[in-house]
Amino acid sequence: MRLRGIIISILAAMLVVLAVTIAKDNTASAPNAPLTNQSNNTPKTTQASFDKHHYSTTDPSSIWVVVNKQHPLNPKTYTPATLVVPKIPARSNITGDESLVSSVMAPALEQMATAAKKDGITLTLQSGYRSYNFQLNLYNLYVKNDGQTQADQESARPGYSEHQTGLAADLGGVTNPSCNVAQCFINTPEGKWLAANAYHYGFIIRYTTAEQPVTGYEDEPWHVRYIGTDLSQEMHKEGITTLEEFFGVTGGTTYAN
Ligand SMILES: [Zn+2]
Repeated sequence: MRLRGIIISILAAMLVVLAVTIAKDNTASAPNAPLTNQSNNTPKTTQASFDKHHYSTTDPSSIWVVVNKQHPLNPKTYTPATLVVPKIPARSNITGDESLVSSVMAPALEQMATAAKKDGITLTLQSGYRSYNFQLNLYNLYVKNDGQTQADQESARPGYSEHQTGLAADLGGVTNPSCNVAQCFINTPEGKWLAANAYHYGFIIRYTTAEQPVTGYEDEPWHVRYIGTDLSQEMHKEGITTLEEFFGVTGGTTYAN
């Protein structure tokens, strides 16, 4: 019986050590909590710090992948596993690649378009997925028309476009079709709705004027990127508008090679 007592004592001691370890782990995560939570001094709030490593930022199939001029897709010829035609209105002459998006993004895009419709706003798909070869031809067209320096401000080189992930889309509207995929889109009812509401559905407006030095691209108020609602709402809460700044990833206007 004495041996049994010793074993019980050892087990009890192990439980105490385990409990202390778990408690330490919890407090260790507290300093990572967003600064905006400081006003609330209950420990539960600080424990809810956002896990920035929950998904990969380098895997091209990850909803958090960061693609920019410093970070091409890996591999550059990446193709998403499943591409689908989203059930939202599209421009009448859309064909091939561009009518598709990743099956990962499609439900959120449909949900956002449905919500917009309830507000009297019609969002249309202008361009979804673009394969490596599609982007190659598009980029070469820009280079031919505007020269390479200007082309690099306006269009991604093949292997460097978010569109190739299937997780980005250029959206337009119906009230002023001439503003679709143009700077004046930002002043249309559709552009304003998108800027105000995209984050509710897991999207960000990826390229804004103020962030050009970070993202490497001119203002594109029509280009949305799907990142999931956890991240889009966290970025909104923290007032951070670029993936580069949120994840501490390098970007900028210069190509990696
Ligand atoms: Zn785009």
